[in-house]
Amino acid sequence: MSAVGLVVALTGGIGSGKTTVADRLAELGAGVIDTDEISRALTAHDGAALEPITAAFGPDIRLADGTLDRARLRRIVFSDPTARARLESILHPLIEAAMLERLAALETDYAVLVIPLLFETGQDRHADRVLVVDVPEAVQIARVMQRSGLSESEVRRIIDSQIPRRERNTRADDLIDNSGTCVDLEPRLQELHAIYTRIAARR
Ligand code: ATP
Repeated sequence: MSAVGLVVALTGGIGSGKTTVADRLAELGAGVIDTDEISRALTAHDGAALEPITAAFGPDIRLADGTLDRARLRRIVFSDPTARARLESILHPLIEAAMLERLAALETDYAVLVIPLLFETGQDRHADRVLVVDVPEAVQIARVMQRSGLSESEVRRIIDSQIPRRERNTRADDLIDNSGTCVDLEPRLQELHAIYTRIAARR
């Protein structure tokens, strides 16, 4: 098992600010493990998920240079729930195993596991505490549209595929309101860092 004193799972809806929060907690001293980054590595050239994905979706899911045709895969899984479930059944166990391996190697006081679909995938079982980054839906939509160029209806579709905001917030041990500026976030992040460091030291 991990040497860290406390495992915090960090989640939130698309574009809520998970990466922004995780990056700052890392600067303060947390050991951060980002499951999106693990997912990208698994599906990159030479990634362990590439062969099983090709076996499941056919050779056309690879581009001429052998890399994954991410746009094609995204189109397929967004229009077909069975295909989405198949992709998730390949990726999620691999992501979870890599995350736990990295967690076991951490030597920080506490760990932050960034898991976008935390409750949807039942991975909250790996955490001692759940930290949720929260923003109103209008802010979420504006930030994602600005960053990605997706349309409002595309962003809404993704939001609707995730756990409802109210339920996510209810299941949080700690909540961060990210509706203000990044500067506004700082006192709350300092506070949480101090709390997590203190809890970790007691264990
Ligand atoms: P995703 O779910 O897509 O991985 P995320 O939850 O990790 O997103 P971030 O990438 O941290 O969210 O933030 C989403 C976008 O909003 C980014 O472009 C980020 O720079 C911006 N952003 C985050 N927090 C704030 C803030 N407080 N004020 C203004 N912009 C912000």
